[in-house]
Amino acid sequence: MVAIPDAVTGEENIPIPTPNIRKEIKSDALSNSNAKPTAEQRVYQSACPAVLSKMIIAEIVPEISDNQCGERSPLKVKSIAGISFTSEAILNCRMATSLAGWIEETKKSAKTILKDELVSINNSTSYDCRKRRGAGQSKISEHAFANALDIIGFEFKETEPVSVLNHWVSEKEENSDEVSDEKELFLTAARNSACSHFTTVLSPDTNAAHKDHFHFDLGCHGKNCTYKICE
Ligand SMILES: [Zn+2]
Repeated sequence: MVAIPDAVTGEENIPIPTPNIRKEIKSDALSNSNAKPTAEQRVYQSACPAVLSKMIIAEIVPEISDNQCGERSPLKVKSIAGISFTSEAILNCRMATSLAGWIEETKKSAKTILKDELVSINNSTSYDCRKRRGAGQSKISEHAFANALDIIGFEFKETEPVSVLNHWVSEKEENSDEVSDEKELFLTAARNSACSHFTTVLSPDTNAAHKDHFHFDLGCHGKNCTYKICE
């Protein structure tokens, strides 16, 4: 409290309105663009039902936002349907959930064709902020939205690992007189069943850029996102 002399106000004991001074300082600080925000901006992420049901073992990681690339609720996936990945894959929930259906069928193919149990999937690229390879450079890859996975091979309980590079036999190379080997049949079954779970399935039959891996994604083709590419 500060007493104001009569000569200025005509009255005594009127407090100087210091709160107004504080208010001015506060509003100056808010208008300054360098001022720190009072609270962190919340990112609204979504839960993945297949993680809740434990079909997918994964943890949600922070939003990815990198120019045109990104995913709001990316999952770091360790295993799906009991089959581990050789390296943790960054995938969105839709892609991981579609992989679950494909892996269940691939487990059955391992049993019927190789008479063995599928143990792990040898995966390579998942999230990657880049343009498409092989088929023109203009469009952004589905990898840039955590909506794609590259698979280079499979590991089993007893059988030696099967790789796309070593065991895929291109339709063009295939000699009709030769009996297909089991590993080759298994890879063909894995590729074929993927076509009912993903909108894009690419194999060594597509081009040289895919000679050593399968590429699966859920990119939108056609007006209603129902057109599929299965190669
Ligand atoms: Zn790919």
